[in-house]
Amino acid sequence: MIDTHCHLYELPDPAAAVARARAAGVCAIVVPGIDAATSDDAVRLAAALPGFVLPAAGVHPDAACEAGEVVGAVADLARVETLARTGAARAVGECGLDRVGAGRDPRSQERAFLAQVALARDCNLPLLLHCRAAFDRMLRLLEPFGPHPAGGVLHAYNGSAEVADRFARLGLRFGVGGVATRPEAVRVRATVAAIPLDRLVLETDAPYIGTARVPKGAVSPADLPEVLAAAAGLKGMPEEVVDRVTDATARELLRL
Ligand SMILES: [Zn+2]
Repeated sequence: MIDTHCHLYELPDPAAAVARARAAGVCAIVVPGIDAATSDDAVRLAAALPGFVLPAAGVHPDAACEAGEVVGAVADLARVETLARTGAARAVGECGLDRVGAGRDPRSQERAFLAQVALARDCNLPLLLHCRAAFDRMLRLLEPFGPHPAGGVLHAYNGSAEVADRFARLGLRFGVGGVATRPEAVRVRATVAAIPLDRLVLETDAPYIGTARVPKGAVSPADLPEVLAAAAGLKGMPEEVVDRVTDATARELLRL
């Protein structure tokens, strides 16, 4: 299994978490940055665990907002650009739009997002996207570019299956994570069931998104088998099949 979205640098003991993940059958972990410092953390972890940790560099929409409308996360974006252009980062992200919560500045978010989309196109790197309550807007921003050549993933996807079709035409795939393991998450589970299997990849978003068994904040990449089991249940397919197909999709995207 490949964990396509894990904030390994946020875990109390990344080395121990990696050992447990390996023992649980995880063979690679994509570590996205959320700002300059954590993008550097991801690259450092990848140097310590070559072939296992795949680092991405990005400015999360929350970080883009905090940086303010005028400044627009300029210093963070500059560092992300360096990591992408020097080949240190295997993908650009996570980046995107988030309209949940008060006091968010859509203009600085969009500016940071579009800068990273352009960077990923220029460097021919995949995109790791975060999108909450802004799917229409994200499509409106992305569709004029046409398909993203190196593809990408909408992580922890919680939009509809219809909207997923439009994103899929842009070369994007969809991250299935902890939410899909919870019986009460009826809408997300129906979406996972409806999206074709070859458009899905697995993720934990560790330590953030809780599963049916593990509370939010305490998740680690070793919890990926719980996500695989949930995805297999929702697709009505054996775990081996879902593992093989999602693994192949992740490998193709990340050029493993
Ligand atoms: Zn994330």
